[in-house]
Amino acid sequence: MTSFDPTADYSAIRDGVAKVCAGFPGAYWRDLDARRAYPKEFVDALIREGYLAAMIPENYGGSGLNLTASAAILEEIHSQGCNAAACHAQMYTMGTVLRHGNEAQKERYLPRIADGTLRLQAFGVTEPTSGTDTLALKTTARREGDEYVINGQKIWTSRVEHSDLMVLLARTTPRDQVGSKTEGLSVFLVDLRDKVGDGIEIRPIRTMINHATTEVFFDNLRIPADSLIGEEGKGFRYILSGMNSERILIAAECIGDAKWFLKTGAAYARERVVFGDPIGANQGIQFPLARAHAHMMAAEAIVYRAAAMYDAGHNPGVEANTAKMLAADASWEAAEACMQTHGGFAFAEEYDVERKFREARLYQVAPISTNLILCYIAEQVLGLPKSYGPGRG
Ligand SMILES: Cc1cc2nc3c(=O)[nH]c(=O)nc-3n(C[C@H](O)[C@H](O)[C@H](O)COP(=O)(O)OP(=O)(O)OC[C@H]3O[C@@H](n4cnc5c(N)ncnc54)[C@H](O)[C@@H]3O)c2cc1C
Repeated sequence: MTSFDPTADYSAIRDGVAKVCAGFPGAYWRDLDARRAYPKEFVDALIREGYLAAMIPENYGGSGLNLTASAAILEEIHSQGCNAAACHAQMYTMGTVLRHGNEAQKERYLPRIADGTLRLQAFGVTEPTSGTDTLALKTTARREGDEYVINGQKIWTSRVEHSDLMVLLARTTPRDQVGSKTEGLSVFLVDLRDKVGDGIEIRPIRTMINHATTEVFFDNLRIPADSLIGEEGKGFRYILSGMNSERILIAAECIGDAKWFLKTGAAYARERVVFGDPIGANQGIQFPLARAHAHMMAAEAIVYRAAAMYDAGHNPGVEANTAKMLAADASWEAAEACMQTHGGFAFAEEYDVERKFREARLYQVAPISTNLILCYIAEQVLGLPKSYGPGRG
């Protein structure tokens, strides 16, 4: 079994990321949050310093770092109080392109993604009627000569207004014409430039957090046939392997959030004096923070073990899912402890706690909800009957 190296903490990378983040304090994020605006300056700074090209191999102009280093970058962004949700897709979609894209696709896009002239930030999987049941998605891609014609709708497609490219999952063979239900879906790398208004319509969704998420409608969108990634009909498998890297990277962000909540909560508990003593002198304040810290450390170990396995070429579904669930739980526990420690001031925007609290809640639901991870562990690890969908128990 591949194990993670706890001494490989990528401290030079973390220090560099922390320096970038220092230019984007709470006031920057609060202002964007109030306006639901995209953190363009922050994303540009990360691109300039090369962090969003972390996973692009050096021969295509990137840094050629592995998933573990990328996880450290995202974790650090979050532990500094910033939010990588505006740009993390460039890392987690990269696995699909690198593992399954052909040489021509890599040559065409990767150097320009690496130098920042192209953004790969959109990932179109979820649909309004299928939700978590990805195999029931209805968006179709029909081959016509040298093109595919796309029709359908995606929902919660984040950052698409701030991206030039989208990794899209669509059905190329009707579900009733394939032997296995996992066949017949295909992945495309869609070049969005010039397509908005010409086959694509985007409608932003205003949410409780600042996330630049949207509904995307495809109406006879024509894309070149060479937009297909890998083999037609095998896309679900490619997306699944990409989803493992997504889960690990999001889990790393949750660890970063947990660290921010613990650092912020502990600092406040040391300073805030009530009844003549710092509130942190009370075990009722200390213990929730200490317990959350212990849970964060346990989750952190699984996150980096999953990342090490991914880097060793495995497809660590159990570890990636477990890491995502434990890290999201750890960040939520730390958020709750930090919130309670701040008392009434937790609700004041200027402390950033309420904003981070709202943001941390997302990861109980996306990119996969806790229930579905539990379903996966019950079925795949414990051998229990499948509790949902076709073939149920
Ligand atoms: C802010 C935001 C950004 C997002 N960004 C993207 C993106 O960029 N690209 C993208 O493709 N998607 C994105 N998503 C979608 C996200 O991945 C889904 O919301 C998530 O997978 C859950 O799907 P759903 O919302 O349709 O919930 P549903 O599938 O409708 O489920 C609703 C609830 O029922 C539970 N449930 C469903 N089935 C079962 C079962 N069998 N057993 C037990 N419980 C069950 C779920 O756990 C969930 O709690 C985003 C979502 C949000 C909110």
